[in-house]
Amino acid sequence: MKIEVIGSYGGESLECRMTCLLINDTIALDAGSLAQGLSIERQARVRSILLTHSHMDHTNSLPFFVENVYGVVGGAIDIYASSETIYSIRKHMFNNASWPDFTRMPNNLLPAIQFHELLEEIPVVIDGVKFTPFSVNHAVPTFGFLIEQGNSAILWSSDTGPTHRLWELANQTVKVNAICVETSFDNSMQEIADRSFHLTPMTLRRELGKLERPFPILLHHLKPPCLREIRDEVARLKDPNLHFLEQGNTYEL
Ligand SMILES: [Zn+2]
Ligand SMILES: [Zn+2]
Repeated sequence: MKIEVIGSYGGESLECRMTCLLINDTIALDAGSLAQGLSIERQARVRSILLTHSHMDHTNSLPFFVENVYGVVGGAIDIYASSETIYSIRKHMFNNASWPDFTRMPNNLLPAIQFHELLEEIPVVIDGVKFTPFSVNHAVPTFGFLIEQGNSAILWSSDTGPTHRLWELANQTVKVNAICVETSFDNSMQEIADRSFHLTPMTLRRELGKLERPFPILLHHLKPPCLREIRDEVARLKDPNLHFLEQGNTYEL
């Protein structure tokens, strides 16, 4: 399984692109920077997108991506998400006010995009990669994913405050190559992190105590204004398993 980190941040700045992974060239996990982080030719190879939730740092590039590949690729782009996320994207994004409704363009029978509802704990297999959605603890309904292909597996937290099922799946799954965990704010912003259902290095450390054995941990979804503080605070935890999911990197599992 090949995973390219197109965007690894929970916000946008000159250096930071918003959350988006490209898996095996054809599947995107979240679309915070799909249009900004890939050439048009590479965007045209993406046929399926899974959305963890409706927040804009995970969906922002969808309108521009769809426009870029519209008419270039044959058939609809498949977008997988929970019913709540699909409702939100239809209502607030492809609503013919913010952007054209590409679920009905060029016509109802041959649309540019089509939605597929994901159900909690029910896996879907896309191009040979198995995605099992599970609930995490965020401000809106949000799925994390267990992503498996062959002997490789990673756990993706998406956005979450202190949670349960992520760690239970890590403990139960025979082989997990890495757990990708969000760390959005530094410790001085703990109250904001709690209220917005995100983690800081302090709550991350508590969460890691739920693991029954060590795993490589890749941290992501840092908020751009907090980068230096988060990196300093994580370094002070002196945990050799903690790393950052680096934007621009390709991980071969
Ligand atoms: Zn986010
Ligand atoms: Zn969010």
